[in-house]
Amino acid sequence: MKKLMAANWKMYKTAADAEKTARELVEATDNLPEDREVMVFPPFTAIAGVVEAFAGNENFIVGGQNCYPADEGAFTGEISPRMLLDLGCRSVLTGHSERRHILGESDEFVGKKTAFALRSGLHTVLCIGETLEEREAGALTDVLSRQLKAGLAELDNGVNQEMFSVAYEPVWAIGTGKTAGPPEILEAHGIVRNILSDLLPKTGKNIRILYGGSVKPANIGEIITLDNVEGVLVGGASLQADSFSQIVLG
Ligand code: PEP
Repeated sequence: MKKLMAANWKMYKTAADAEKTARELVEATDNLPEDREVMVFPPFTAIAGVVEAFAGNENFIVGGQNCYPADEGAFTGEISPRMLLDLGCRSVLTGHSERRHILGESDEFVGKKTAFALRSGLHTVLCIGETLEEREAGALTDVLSRQLKAGLAELDNGVNQEMFSVAYEPVWAIGTGKTAGPPEILEAHGIVRNILSDLLPKTGKNIRILYGGSVKPANIGEIITLDNVEGVLVGGASLQADSFSQIVLG
């Protein structure tokens, strides 16, 4: 399976800036290796231009940063998977730590979104990860297990391995400049792999596990080759085509 190189643009970039960066990215990754796939999560307002910039490039996928688990309804300010598909998105993030910790999303709600997004036909990247307090309290395995179980709770028939990925993002490493080192990444990804294999006996071994947390051109080389790392989810260093293209090709 291809390595998934994903960019989370969070609440940055106007529509015009996003389209410009997306076009620069396509140009800078002209020689995209066969085993790489690029996924960009722009703000909702910038999705259309990024879809346009990626048109005709099968290996460049656009996704939403969030969705609501319904096709439509009285949910002011929310966006449905169907609306994302309608715009040309093929993917969505669920459970990003900023949504869990700033916007108060529960494990259960993340599970509902994950199941609904998958059933709607979107590739879904479920984000999980522990806080520093949880890590220091020795709760790493418990937290990852709880978040994965709840994230997958509503999926009665398992998942298609091509359509589902997990991003392990230790909260203490997101946007802080602190990267988990190879031993911490290996340990956490090994734990995630074991839990996935238990929860999803048919597909768990093949589901891509992405690492996220202060990934940059200088550390991509040592991260992407680690066991059980099948991609990365990048925030800050994905905002400029120059640095994200180095990560994509790194
Ligand atoms: C993220 O937002 O998912 C992320 C990993 O951010 P950063 O790369 O800036 O730590």
